Amino acid sequence: MRAILSDVHGNASALRAVLEDIDKRGIKEIISLGDLIGYGPEPIKCLEMARSFSVSLMGNHEEAVLFEPEGFSKKAQSAVEWTRKQLSNAHLTGGEDPFEFVGSLLKRHSEGGLLWVHGSPREPTQEYIFPNDIKRPHKLKPIFARFDQVCFVGHTHYAGVITEKLEFLMPPDLLNVYMIDQGKAIINVGSVGQPRDGNPKASYVTFDGDSVVFHRVPYDLKMTADMIYKVPELDNFLGDRLFKGK
Ligand code: ZN
Repeated sequence: MRAILSDVHGNASALRAVLEDIDKRGIKEIISLGDLIGYGPEPIKCLEMARSFSVSLMGNHEEAVLFEPEGFSKKAQSAVEWTRKQLSNAHLTGGEDPFEFVGSLLKRHSEGGLLWVHGSPREPTQEYIFPNDIKRPHKLKPIFARFDQVCFVGHTHYAGVITEKLEFLMPPDLLNVYMIDQGKAIINVGSVGQPRDGNPKASYVTFDGDSVVFHRVPYDLKMTADMIYKVPELDNFLGDRLFKGK
């Protein structure tokens, strides 16, 4: 059994709650799909916790602190610059430079017909696969052609399943369980630290090779929001949105 999570976004309180939930299930193998940092107030703590994961992939926010932010709003850009400063001023336990760790993240991970990326198999760190894309077969067809069975993604912060028949299935409609023997599927694991699907609880999935189970974990979001409000470079909106899950 494995746990797959994404888009922690510097929200250490949410990540801690999710890791406790994973630990309670006795799961040791964790895959992160990227965006451990960016927007949130505790990037270093999140990187530190991620060092024990089995696989850790790169998201667009890791790419942005390493290189130049691309396609970011002014608020997001300010958060990137603040995050970069935090990384420049810190060391991970054992003395490792946080940029070394971030720079070592891979853009994709695959095992047989299974693929893990941050955004999309076509453009791993940047392209979004939105629920509404089921109306755009010309976009999704080439994406489905890039993997054989299941592709796990994050990036949109919106948990759910897109089937090869171009349906979008939300976790509540599935009673939180999706069997993967029904043709190809794109599984969006949602976001740990900044959900935007209307549910403020932290999102992640577990996967046993046959079925994907969607989980939501409550955490102290006021604590994270208050930390965001104290940092001028992090827009208050980044704290406000946590309460709404939007
Ligand atoms: Zn993200």
